[in-house]
Amino acid sequence: MKVMKFGGTSVGKPERMRQVSELITKDDEPTITVLSALSGTTNSLVEISTHLSQSDRVSAKASIDKLEAHYRKFVSELVNGEALQAKANSIVTEHFEFLNIILRISFSDALYKDILAQGELMSTKLFCVYLEEQGIDHLLLPALEFMSIDANEEPNLPAIKTKLNALLQHHSDKKLFITQGYICKNARGEVDNLKRGGSDYTASLIAAAAKASVCEIWTDIDGMHNNDPRIVDKTVAIEQLSFEEAAELAYFGAKILHPTCIWPAQQENVPVKLLNTMQPDAPGTTITKEAGSVGVKAVAAKDGIIAIKIKSSRMLLAYGFLRKVFEVFEKYKTSIDMVTTSEVAVSVTIDNDTFLNDIIRELEPFGTTEVDKNQTIISIVGNEIESTNDVMKRLFDAIEEIPVRMVSYGGSPHNVSLLVDGQYKTKTLQLLNKGLFGL
Ligand code: ADP
Ligand code: ASP
Ligand code: MG
Repeated sequence: MKVMKFGGTSVGKPERMRQVSELITKDDEPTITVLSALSGTTNSLVEISTHLSQSDRVSAKASIDKLEAHYRKFVSELVNGEALQAKANSIVTEHFEFLNIILRISFSDALYKDILAQGELMSTKLFCVYLEEQGIDHLLLPALEFMSIDANEEPNLPAIKTKLNALLQHHSDKKLFITQGYICKNARGEVDNLKRGGSDYTASLIAAAAKASVCEIWTDIDGMHNNDPRIVDKTVAIEQLSFEEAAELAYFGAKILHPTCIWPAQQENVPVKLLNTMQPDAPGTTITKEAGSVGVKAVAAKDGIIAIKIKSSRMLLAYGFLRKVFEVFEKYKTSIDMVTTSEVAVSVTIDNDTFLNDIIRELEPFGTTEVDKNQTIISIVGNEIESTNDVMKRLFDAIEEIPVRMVSYGGSPHNVSLLVDGQYKTKTLQLLNKGLFGL
């Protein structure tokens, strides 16, 4: 069994969907195809929800109508036959009827999740109509029947395994399965999701659950690049990464992968490949247990970071102090990314400010606190960076002109992280591209 996941741009136009059908039928291996929503759809659904949450029904209705027009056009270009066009249109009607009904009911978090699920529900159903027209035998596996998160909003892999394998066994005569990325059920049995970009996570969870031979992530670029191609001009694809390197890059901002999507594949040792739908023959990036080579491979940036400094000349050296500080973050379910200590102060970074005021209030008895918002973590990722002698020299030579707020080195052999003010992000990435990669 292999898993093939196609992102928004890979299904965003009728001709791309045609290409997807060619790619998934290229060989005989049974395949689970995971689809995202058509590009732009989830953003539109967020926009509709924002209008509704502000009780702006007029703007919500305008956004719904605009999105519906997009789908009507899409369907008219995707399917030819009259009967199947009618079928595809009735799918669009069903989902837009839902969106129009919610205009009249009061907005809630559960409803928000239902709205967000419409994109993947539509893309998979429409793709199945296209496959039907092509006479390609397939089965739609509804993700809501097997993909679940627990009370901590973490995917429940053992439960997913049991449910998915039961479904696959029940349909052992089929070779081509289609399912939705991103969406799932939560511990309360409601529709929920794996957070933005979560279709990658779905693919990796399915790959682990089904012990797939490979988890292919098909997107609009030829693999993981050494730097952010949206910000830096000259970037190149990386041939091979270890699971650890890929996880660090994804977590620290390489948008090609969902931040936490590597662990399921890693747990079952399923290789992950990043491939380009528009250039299917390009080698892409292979992610396995082995790193392939030693040295720095890529840099990535994570925005919206908050740095908190706690100064206390009295207590810092006392044992138990750091535990008490960390307990405050644990209490508010806020994870810490970077930590640095000195004799008189400790600095930590977080990426979620939901409970910032509570956290600061509870930290106050420990000393004086300082908060810096709009910071960026720049991560330099590679294999055995620690033992690559001149990395730190080249790194700091390259960014001589940038004020660095924090440095984290030695936490893992794969990563050096710097914290800089958000205004220096672009410049830092550009300078590192020159200094570390000569590009
Ligand atoms: P999909 O819709 O297929 O999930 P995404 O937009 O989520 O695709 O991810 C692909 C995009 O990630 C690329 O178009 C690219 O602009 C961006 N990206 C950011 N950092 C990197 C990187 N280091 N390597 C490759 N792509 C990256
Ligand atoms: N459609 C969802 C999003 O845009 C999930 C995904 O594409 O991975 O975030
Ligand atoms: Mg994505």
